[in-house]
Amino acid sequence: MTIISPFRLITRPLYKFYVQGELEKMAYPIEMQDTIKKVEASRSERIDRSFPRLNFVEKAKLLETYHPDFRLSEKGEIPFGPNQGEFVPKELVTLLESPSRLNPDAIDFGKVDFKTDVLIIGGGGAGVTAALFAKENGADVLLTTKLRLGDANTIMAEGGIGAATLPEDSPVIHYIDTMVGGRCQNIPELVETLVNDAPFIVEWLTDLGVNFDRLPDGSYFAHMPAGHSRKRSHSVKDITGLEIMRVLCDEVRNQEIRFLEFSPAVELLLDDRGQCAGAALYNFDTEQYLVVQAKTTLLATGGIGRLHIQGFPTSNHYGATADGLVMAYRAGAELLYMGFIQYHPTGIAWPEQMLGLLISEALRAQGAQVVNVEGEMFVDRLETRDALSAAIIRECGERGKGVLTPTGMVGVWLDTPLIDIVGGGPGTFLRRFAGIHSRFKKYGIDPVKEPILVYPTQHYQNGGVETGVNGETNIPNLYVAGEVAGGVHGHNRLGSNSLVDIFVFGRRAGIDMARKVSQIEAGELSLDHVRAYQKSLKELGIVSGTVSPMLLPDYRFEKALTTVQYTKGR
Ligand SMILES: Cc1cc2nc3c(=O)[nH]c(=O)nc-3n(C[C@H](O)[C@H](O)[C@H](O)COP(=O)(O)OP(=O)(O)OC[C@H]3O[C@@H](n4cnc5c(N)ncnc54)[C@H](O)[C@@H]3O)c2cc1C
Repeated sequence: MTIISPFRLITRPLYKFYVQGELEKMAYPIEMQDTIKKVEASRSERIDRSFPRLNFVEKAKLLETYHPDFRLSEKGEIPFGPNQGEFVPKELVTLLESPSRLNPDAIDFGKVDFKTDVLIIGGGGAGVTAALFAKENGADVLLTTKLRLGDANTIMAEGGIGAATLPEDSPVIHYIDTMVGGRCQNIPELVETLVNDAPFIVEWLTDLGVNFDRLPDGSYFAHMPAGHSRKRSHSVKDITGLEIMRVLCDEVRNQEIRFLEFSPAVELLLDDRGQCAGAALYNFDTEQYLVVQAKTTLLATGGIGRLHIQGFPTSNHYGATADGLVMAYRAGAELLYMGFIQYHPTGIAWPEQMLGLLISEALRAQGAQVVNVEGEMFVDRLETRDALSAAIIRECGERGKGVLTPTGMVGVWLDTPLIDIVGGGPGTFLRRFAGIHSRFKKYGIDPVKEPILVYPTQHYQNGGVETGVNGETNIPNLYVAGEVAGGVHGHNRLGSNSLVDIFVFGRRAGIDMARKVSQIEAGELSLDHVRAYQKSLKELGIVSGTVSPMLLPDYRFEKALTTVQYTKGR
């Protein structure tokens, strides 16, 4: 494997001046431009062609050989607790083997800072939805979040939200696609609930004011992400999450729901009856711990991208550090499918400043093909994310047909100029993907005219805390919703199925929590489960150099991640 020295960057002129005196960055270095010429040269021959789809056997073999989930050397065994003996990413095991950042003896339950019916932990799509429905159903609600309200993966969603709203579609077809995409490991009742509630969710969001893309006759515009067999992804250009969160955060304020910012939860509280009874929070500003006593508690803390599993870059926001999984596990909740991580095939591989950020699947749905350094197709552009990622890893690793960047990253081309050629005519890219366009323009790349270099990026946790159809867990009065929950997506989530998941199950959890409030008899608050957990660590001789939950990733001493392990075997 050749790694090109980053110092070569310094010796090459990176900028050129334009007559207007404007300084424009020249984005692609000369050696990358040479391979772009090959992409351009092969375009007319590829334009009407598609690559043969993988059959089940080919797909299984591809995954087993190249998908990072199957690198057993990168997994660790959970040492104790409900999932003892299961193999999950080592980075997660490290957190589960760490003592709490909270000293249980330092918490004084004589002083409760907040009392509420419903405590929502997490200010992304699942959390705010649950808060709105709990409030609508009569509960007193407190929402607490790690950063600002809305700082979350949800706000970054680009592609769209999946629901069978068009006449040629139905929840039954949505169900079948979702099960096949999840390698048939999905929990059937969860999928049934997801697909049946999905059309209502799109209507609900529309009624609140979300401006979904429309066709000239006023009906919904929908596209078909990979693994779906019908057009069912409803978008707002390429800023779907931003638009949805704009509306939902407004609604939280309109409904006068109390919320705390920069106040992450650090441990769940149980009571002496083993029920969940709230959480201990840490205020980033005052550096004080706060006690919240709640009749029902929802974890809606999102995903784990910032663990950078196996050194992959990530598409996730800074708060995605697996806190919910750690807190739930310490309290005794069961995890499901945490060995299955989603690497989105089209993370940005160049320029370095945007490493790992997402290029939505919608670009492939709109005609962009994936090609190697020679401009050759090597996989169908609409294979599911797991298979497409594995094919890209194979192309860049074993086959040596990736494009090397000056900083040692590698990738394949996403031939975006095809979008205006075959995907809807001139102007389509700008109309549909203005956000992505402006992001690249800053670095002097015009994706209408030039391809984009991509490589898989850590995107989503397919598993999570085991849950029922209303978000309930095995711990009384503890609920989960959104990415922190597991089961509905099986081993591999389909595109557009997460946005709908967070609203379907966020809503259901909010309603059920409010309903349950009147039946709950609270006991004495306790952190004994944290003490017991730490005792188990000690008894097993597990010594950790960290504490958990992580709360924020620490990049202080690290260079940006540029050398993902693309040549690594299993
Ligand atoms: C770039 C990108 C694009 C995507 N595009 C799509 C798409 O087009 N369609 C689709 O279906 N899915 C998409 N997804 C996936 C989808 O957006 C997410 O899975 C989903 O939004 C997660 O919602 P959530 O509410 O569960 O988590 P989040 O939206 O991540 O919210 C979690 C919240 O919890 C907070 N939090 C974390 N830890 C704590 C703590 N300890 N205490 C308090 N608060 C905490 C976080 O700060 C955050 O506010 C995309 C994801 C990304 C990253």
